[in-house]
Amino acid sequence: MLMQEERELVVEYGKKMSAARLSTGTSGNISIYNAEKGLMAISPSGMDYFSTQPEDVVITDLDAHVVDGVRKPSSEWALHTVFYKNKPEARSVVHTHSMYCTTFAVLGQPVRAVHYVIGDANTDTVLCAPYQTFGTVELAETAIKVCGDSNAVLLANHGLVVCGGNIQSAYSLACNMEYIAELQYRAMCIGTPNILSKEKMAKVLEKFKTYGQTPGKKTGY
Ligand code: 13P
Ligand code: ZN
Repeated sequence: MLMQEERELVVEYGKKMSAARLSTGTSGNISIYNAEKGLMAISPSGMDYFSTQPEDVVITDLDAHVVDGVRKPSSEWALHTVFYKNKPEARSVVHTHSMYCTTFAVLGQPVRAVHYVIGDANTDTVLCAPYQTFGTVELAETAIKVCGDSNAVLLANHGLVVCGGNIQSAYSLACNMEYIAELQYRAMCIGTPNILSKEKMAKVLEKFKTYGQTPGKKTGY
């Protein structure tokens, strides 16, 4: 089976994402990009994560051509490819409708540096891209524009999209984003959160370059 390893990872992380309640029902989607082959393994559209098998994962190129697979690819196909086309280091994209990130996306408000771990997104503020219909090229283009150098962006009235150098990093960032969004929400319920300054966050971003066991091959914070 073409890109068996990537297909198995898409299935494994889909189950994780669903079990961690980062996605409800069949919402959200996951892809892994194999740069040598120029091909992406992406979750099938509208399928339960716990019934999805590796053969249900669809292999496409970055121009909407299905290369292998019998299922219809995720409707957010363009949202995934736009990250691979614009971010040379991206090898995985995770899109969720997780509750707290989506709460801020509904408000059109960013997730801010209420906790240093936001540095995992390579930024001190994760912005919210204006609303566009799901599954459109317009959504993909708006998202990547607002994302800029960050690895995460909120989608107004929709959810979150993140990228990473591998599926472990991308998934970990999706988890961290939800943690920070929940923290921001909770802090706002009882007061006004202190936001870390750009200077403080610059130090964090520098330290993150060598954090963990394999510098340069980050697998999450
Ligand atoms: P798919 O099931 O087509 O991946 O769509 C889910 C989703 O989150 C759309 O934005
Ligand atoms: Zn969605």
